[in-house]
Amino acid sequence: MAIRTIRTQGDPVLNKQCREVTQMTPRLHQLIEDMYDTMYEANGVGLAAPQVGILKQIVVIDIGDMGEVTDPDGAARDGEPEEASSSYGPITLINPVIITQDGEQTGDEGCLSVPGMAGLVTRPDHVIVRALDEEMKEIEIEGTGLLARAICHEVDHLAGIMYTSKVEGQLHEVHYEEEE
Ligand code: ZN
Repeated sequence: MAIRTIRTQGDPVLNKQCREVTQMTPRLHQLIEDMYDTMYEANGVGLAAPQVGILKQIVVIDIGDMGEVTDPDGAARDGEPEEASSSYGPITLINPVIITQDGEQTGDEGCLSVPGMAGLVTRPDHVIVRALDEEMKEIEIEGTGLLARAICHEVDHLAGIMYTSKVEGQLHEVHYEEEE
């Protein structure tokens, strides 16, 4: 487990275009593992490689149980493992491209690179992103609500775009409740 330093706004690395990943390597596997460790340690729902100073098109997302409940009955629990097409849990996206977006949602958004702050951002309410997974296999992930927002936010990072450039009105401070 290795926690990397999260770069904060003002660091020029956050405003650069990231390069495509052409080959998976042990080093990149390690980077991805560290990105998850770093994101979980900071209680984030997403992290992009430039946020730890690496200009490569890699993002990790885990919205945990903060997404909408799509299957409240908990059906299909007998034996068959649920397939990863359900969009929750850890998602690694390499060279992601948003291929479909529609709808609209406006809500508070924050970023681990802008600690303690949030601001109102309008995003699509539904996206489909095409990417490679850690085995460099092509995947498509569909997201609505918070997951759609997280995907858009992280894909923006790879183009050097910070959410603060999209905030409507002012950034405001947020105070997290301590969970004991
Ligand atoms: Zn961010």
